[in-house]
Amino acid sequence: MPGADTNIQYLKGVGPTYAKRFEKLGIHTFGDLLAHYPRRYIDYTHPYEISQAPFDTACCVQAEVISKEGVRRLPGGRSLCRVLAGDDTATLTLSWFNTPYAAEKLEIGEKYFFEGIAGGSMLRRSMVNPLVRTAAQIAETPLAAVYGATEGLSSGYIQRCVRTALQSVDTLPDPLPPDMRQKYRLPDKMEAVRSIHCPPTAEAAVAARRRLIFEELLTLQLGILLLRGRESALTSAPMAPCDPAPFLASLPFAPTGAQRRAAEEICADMAKATPMNRLLQGDVGSGKTLVAAIAIWFAAQNGYQSALMAPTEILARQHAKGLADLLEPFGIEVALLTGGMKAAEKRRTLAAVADGRAGLVVGTHAVITDKVQFCNLGLAVVDEQHRFGVRQRSLLAGKARQPHLLVMSATPIPRTLGLLLYGDLDISILDELPPGRTPVKTWFINGKKRADMYAWIDKQIAAGHQAYIVCPAIEDSGNESIRSVKEYYENTAVPLLPGRRVGLMHGKLRPSEKNAVMDAFKQGEVDVLVSTTVIEVGVDVPNATVMVIENAERFGLSALHQLRGRVGRGSAESCCILISDHQTEAVQQRLRFLCRTADGFAVARYDLETRGPGDFFGQAQHGLPRLQIADLMADTRPLAAAQSEAKALLQADPSLIAPEHKALGDAVAKLFENAGAMN
Ligand code: ADP
Ligand code: MG
Repeated sequence: MPGADTNIQYLKGVGPTYAKRFEKLGIHTFGDLLAHYPRRYIDYTHPYEISQAPFDTACCVQAEVISKEGVRRLPGGRSLCRVLAGDDTATLTLSWFNTPYAAEKLEIGEKYFFEGIAGGSMLRRSMVNPLVRTAAQIAETPLAAVYGATEGLSSGYIQRCVRTALQSVDTLPDPLPPDMRQKYRLPDKMEAVRSIHCPPTAEAAVAARRRLIFEELLTLQLGILLLRGRESALTSAPMAPCDPAPFLASLPFAPTGAQRRAAEEICADMAKATPMNRLLQGDVGSGKTLVAAIAIWFAAQNGYQSALMAPTEILARQHAKGLADLLEPFGIEVALLTGGMKAAEKRRTLAAVADGRAGLVVGTHAVITDKVQFCNLGLAVVDEQHRFGVRQRSLLAGKARQPHLLVMSATPIPRTLGLLLYGDLDISILDELPPGRTPVKTWFINGKKRADMYAWIDKQIAAGHQAYIVCPAIEDSGNESIRSVKEYYENTAVPLLPGRRVGLMHGKLRPSEKNAVMDAFKQGEVDVLVSTTVIEVGVDVPNATVMVIENAERFGLSALHQLRGRVGRGSAESCCILISDHQTEAVQQRLRFLCRTADGFAVARYDLETRGPGDFFGQAQHGLPRLQIADLMADTRPLAAAQSEAKALLQADPSLIAPEHKALGDAVAKLFENAGAMN
């Protein structure tokens, strides 16, 4: 007897070929298929009149069969079978290709429901390969599920497979404990899964959705809480207040009011008995690194080590260097740890971290590997937090029993999502830029102006400035319009800047090569850096005043804003030039918006409104597993309920080991095991 764990290949009508296609959708078992929920439904209870059927969208019409044609053979071995149907408003030509028996069961003079995409002209409508239903069938299933299809798997085929798989629906475990189902008046799992795929009524579909969304959010929240595993415990690093004046006085510039306020909040948190859990949110260039430096200095005065994790090797190196300049005068040793380092170097760093000589270790993901043992970690800082998964953050915090956690980001997150990710997260905001900054002027041009632009860049270089030029892809992708960075470097940037020093940077360079290029750019030994988006976040070279972005239409606005944030970091006037030959209205509007708007929060809001939360807070942006049915932005009410239930559950049963919680525990494990971003 097949069950929820049976391989999809053994479902009737599937087999190895189709199983491969299902795999592309992440569907491996009967259970996975049953968790592939429909996008929407076609409502057979309200069929259209033929003349009213919308053009080019899937819909259902009811019509009477007027006449049938014999099956015709077409060249190439194909067959065509046609039927004429009609109602009081118009006629409808139905055609089936390669389905010679399609019309056989249809009786002239009888009414049927036809579902498909309606085309044709006003009075003579048509449908190709429609599905046929009788009135008796409609009475049984009035709403037909429509699935997200993929190459080689039509929605109709998925529908048939799901119906077969539903015979095993009773083998699905129900993760929701019965008392919780009762409390929220939710249907049980079997009923919910049956109704979401084959709803007997519209109300049943709604109830099923509600239940499945709740289950998914509860599972998600439990997983996050279990990963974090730090509910209201005492910190292992209680710190005593101390006056930061000597450190502030040593800085190359006076901190802004916003930086002082944030630093005060952070230091006050670290002097508490419970671990800090704080987000430092500030637009690109607002000076988050300096605030982190104050916190690290504070921890060091209290005898604790700190760790700072950054998403790229380039950024980690930059932070290690910059922070060493600020902290080493106070005897705080800064160590660097990245994947690309030589083994001997790594060993030295690991030893310094383990015996406590290093007061701060800065690194990439390398910091959270098993090999890293801290002597007394008191503060964990995550820069560009949206680039990391929940798991990675908690692994860093897990390097000590209960260290303080500071996460930093320029990307604002909505409150509900923040609550989900961090629980009781406190937020400090840097709402002030360092003094003397002039907003980055932003222009949008097309490729015809490229040569003029280069002449202008040449003048900027003559005036002692530097420039970045960013291209989207590394290798030639075959798509003419996408400028591969290597090809661009050789055929455009170098020839158009004769006598200037042009550098090339991309993710596939060896770490030592990356460092050499980046250092040369920092030292002013390279005038122009042609790069992929590896420099998108964090990079800080104040002398660079020009940012050129080729194929700007390929980037999201938030990414463009981050890239733009690489310039305008010194006092000289800076500019950002977006190049695109895509003249569509949507592209133009987006890019023009960025030209007008300097405020990162406004950019994020616009991105959210125009691209939708799915894209904006895509997996890459928050490191959460992919959800099947819940929408973190829209389903805020069930999210709040799921949050409080998850907390209560874990208080009663911290590891979900009670028999009535086993199915829930399994569901959590499954959701998080499928999420690559969690590792
Ligand atoms: P972000 O918030 O984007 O991480 P950074 O920490 O990289 O910003 O800081 C941006 C630039 O501003 C750096 O060059 C930094 O040295 C400089 N900076 C930071 N704070 C101040 C300040 N109070 N006054 C002047 N310059 C500052
Ligand atoms: Mg930064």
